Amino acid sequence: MTRIAFIGLGAMGGGMAANQARAGHAVAAFDLSAHAVARAVEAGCHAASSIAEAVADADAVITMLPAGPQVRAVYAEAVFAHAPKTALLLDCSTIDVESARAVAGQARAAGFRFADAPVSGGVAAAEAGQLTFMVGCDEPDFSTIETVLAPMARAVIRAGDHGAGQAAKICNNLILGVTMLGTCEAFALAEKLGLDAQNFYDIASKSSGQSWSMTSYCPWPGPVPTAPSNRGYEGGFAVAMMLKDLKLAQEAAARSGASSPLGAQAEALYALFDGLGYGRKDFSSILALLRGVLKDID
Ligand code: NAD
Repeated sequence: MTRIAFIGLGAMGGGMAANQARAGHAVAAFDLSAHAVARAVEAGCHAASSIAEAVADADAVITMLPAGPQVRAVYAEAVFAHAPKTALLLDCSTIDVESARAVAGQARAAGFRFADAPVSGGVAAAEAGQLTFMVGCDEPDFSTIETVLAPMARAVIRAGDHGAGQAAKICNNLILGVTMLGTCEAFALAEKLGLDAQNFYDIASKSSGQSWSMTSYCPWPGPVPTAPSNRGYEGGFAVAMMLKDLKLAQEAAARSGASSPLGAQAEALYALFDGLGYGRKDFSSILALLRGVLKDID
């Protein structure tokens, strides 16, 4: 049994912490939201009243936080000061490469092993222990990292040194943002052309229009029962989070000199949708914007 401190028990972290407890590990759970902590306790974790308490005797610390500023603050203000130096530190949030490298540098200076280990898969995969982890770490640490992540994972792949996991994640979510918009646009056009949505899904999901956005996360309610489209677009991957990732991709493209015209368009559309007040909805709800029926999701 491993003692795991889990910090950040939201849409993703809640299911991930539950899978660590289910695997027989002692999980000390902390979140700013009391409701999130209560859910983790129901799933077999122990409530910690602070980050300091959660990490005090941890073998591994796992963080699943919204963005770079929260990750920088949680490590600098609490984890480095209170975790034992033997603890393996794993940040699974999606953040900018610079923040990941900065935290890794601080961790090394403080005598810790650290990895950026962002995930792909969504809330259903987090709950099912079926996430893909992309890891940026020192090579000799990878096999231990793989073991700690195993209860939450379908695949654990080393992308390279510190920051490489985040680089892979940003590129992956550029694909996700663009394919989701393309899928929504196609459903909106199919509707105008008089096609039945389920029938169009049956065809496209077995044709070259197939993608994860279509067959695992269909934005049109009905064809994929586990998709957020069937629960009012609540509780999935928030529009604001997708916008954050697309901004990270655009910043990375600008810095590296890569051309990213479709990413730029996707960022502009998600920024518009976020500005209209839909930041907390699941990102597949952008279908309503493209169909011109925003009232359907109000
Ligand atoms: P979320 O907003 O549901 O959860 C974040 C949690 O962090 C919240 O419960 C919040 O209270 C907590 N938190 C914030 N600051 C904190 C602090 N200082 N101390 C303790 N807890 C704090 O977000 P999420 O959807 O679970 O996403 C988490 C990360 O995973 C993000 O970086 C996101 O981009 C990434 N991600 C999300 C999905 C998805 O489908 N939701 C998929 C892949 C990756």
